[in-house]
Order: sequence, then structure tokens, then C-alpha cells
Amino acid sequence: MTKRVYNFYPGPATLPLPALKKAQEELLDYKGTGMSIMELSHRSKQYDAMHKEASGLVRGLMGIPDDYKILWLQGGASTQFFMVPCNLAVKGKPMEYVNTGAWSKKAIKEAKFYGDVNVVASSEDKNFSYIPKDIKFSNNASYAHITGNNTIFGTEFHTWPNVPKDVPLICDMSSNIMDKVIDVKKFGVIYAGAQKNIGPAGVTLVVVREDLLNIVPENTPTMQKWKIHAEKDSLFNTCPCWAIYMCKLCLEHLKNIGGVPAIEKINRKKAKIIYDIIDDSNGFYKGHATPDSRSLMNITFNLPTPELEAKCVEEGQKRELIGLKGHRSVGGMRASLYNAMTLEGVETLGEFLREFKEENE
Ligand SMILES: *Cc1c(COP(=O)(O)O)cnc(C)c1O
Repeated sequence: MTKRVYNFYPGPATLPLPALKKAQEELLDYKGTGMSIMELSHRSKQYDAMHKEASGLVRGLMGIPDDYKILWLQGGASTQFFMVPCNLAVKGKPMEYVNTGAWSKKAIKEAKFYGDVNVVASSEDKNFSYIPKDIKFSNNASYAHITGNNTIFGTEFHTWPNVPKDVPLICDMSSNIMDKVIDVKKFGVIYAGAQKNIGPAGVTLVVVREDLLNIVPENTPTMQKWKIHAEKDSLFNTCPCWAIYMCKLCLEHLKNIGGVPAIEKINRKKAKIIYDIIDDSNGFYKGHATPDSRSLMNITFNLPTPELEAKCVEEGQKRELIGLKGHRSVGGMRASLYNAMTLEGVETLGEFLREFKEENE
């Protein structure tokens, strides 16, 4: 039997086993073509059918209305940090951001190349341990930008801020896309690097409301215009075929297990297992995020000393619980419980954390 560990890495991250097996099965001969889908022309009818299926799965799983386009782009979510202002900034109207962590900051930095940026709320005062409340965006903003889930700090928006009418809400959902049911109509644009919750690295999903495609200045380089990619169904140039194919297999799996409502239930159950252990540990495990802002996807916590944290990561590794070391800006530990992390994996982690506390407190 092939060895498989429980992989809690923040991204690239664990993928559903049935999707990996299907890819293995189809690797050498994709549907009787005698080729891998990696080797097929992106203009072939076999590729085209798969491409449409992948987009269809995104639309179905997220309940995306017809007046939104689904784009598969390259360059990671980091490229969208400048694509957003490039496509949506209007002269004289500030771009408005909520700063909830490292990824928000990077998005803000890129927007500043395109004009005036207002940071309307921030949780930097408490090392990004919470999601600000009562966020107010201006009526004349070009757009309002939030980071849906803060991968490094372990906080997540559980309700969406109100935006003035005619100000589109833009959300970086790289680490929580499809973790729970959302109303897509509340957003102008949703974007997500695939490698955390829906597939492998190499492709970025962008969901954009059609009317927002026409704001981009004419004298913008072609590849930077969402409009071009929308018109060409993400086939303006060679698309990342393999990454899109892997997303398709992962999303097919998600659909087979009941879609987003079903995975939301499982995600809540998984997160509760670990948060309960933190809360019942008499302070041995100390959660970074305030309870009302806790992420379903990335659970960040510290132990009494850095030595114990290192020991916990190391002993976890011996139990085949991999990738639990926290990001340097929070330290301690982080368990990423993305959609593809099984309940069994989280239960195993829970058992380990309980035992570790008993042996080391
Ligand atoms: C990982 C991550 C990014 C960066 O994604 P890349 O695809 O590496 O550019 C951006 N935003 C969030 C919330 C992330 O978790």
C-alpha cells in the first residue's frame, strides 16, 4: 500500500484521495486519446469539454448567477492583487481595503501603484487576531476589498461587511473558497489561488460580475484585462490545463459528497474538534484568534514555550501528522483543515493533542 500521511500544510495542501486516484488512472490515456491531458492541445475538443465541465462545477457548487464570468488565470492570487485595481480603479474614487493580515497588506501595497487607497479598518493593533466590526466603506469608493480568510493568522469573516450601493465588494477567498455556503450576489469579484481549497498550485479562480469587465482602461496590456479572458473563456493563451483538470477532479469529488452545504457541516465539525481542545486545555493550548473570528480552515495556537511547540511539531510528525508548524508571524502551531482534510485526520490530530497535553503540562 502507498503511504499517505495527514497533511496539515497551509498550501499547497492536501487533495482528496479519490481525485488523485482518478488522475493516476487517467494519466497515460485520457479518455481514449492515448495521451495525458497534459499533452493534449488546449484547442482540442476533449480538452474543451473538460474545461467547460470544470467551470460548470464551480458555477453549480457556488450557485453562481448567469451574469458572472468564471475565469481560470495564472500568476496566483498575488497577480490578482494588481489585477483588481488595474481592472476596477476609477480616477478620483479611492480603493478601499480592510487590513486583516499579511495577504491584505500585500493587496494594499499593489493597489497603491494604481491610485489612492484608504484602509478603512485594520486589526493590526492586536497582531491580526480578530476581524474588525462595523466596517464602513465610502459611497464613492472604486471598490471595497476584504480577505475572506487570513491563512497565516487564522481568522475568517463570518458575516460580510455592508457596502454602499454601487460599490462592488471584492474578496480574496484563496484559503476559504467553498468552505461554506455564500451568496455570490453580495460580491463583485471573488478570487482564489487554487492550491489551498480547490486544487493544485498553478491556477487562480476569478469570479467576476459582467458589468465590472468594462471599467478597465483601453490602454491596459491585454493579458491584464479580465474582459479579454472572459471573452475567450480563459483560452486567450495557453491555459494551465493540468491544474484546471485537477481542480475539476477535486470539485467533482466535492459534488459527489454533497457539495458545499455538506462540506460546510464537516468543516464546522472538524474545526470544533480542535477549538474545543484548545478551550478545554486550561491555557496549555492558547488560540491566537478571538472566538468570534476563528477560521474554519486554519487553526492557529501556541503552547506555553517555544520548546514545547517544537516538540509538539516533532512528535506530531512521528505520528504522520505533517505540516503543523505555525507561520513565523504568529509562531506556535497551525493546523490547516481545508475541505480535503478528512474528519478522520482531524480526529487523529485531536487525539494526539490531548495526549501531548497530558504528557507535557
Ligand atoms: C496563499 C494566499 C495568497 C497568495 O496566493 P498565491 O497563489 O501564492 O499568489 C493570497 N491570499 C491568501 C488569503 C492566501 O492564503
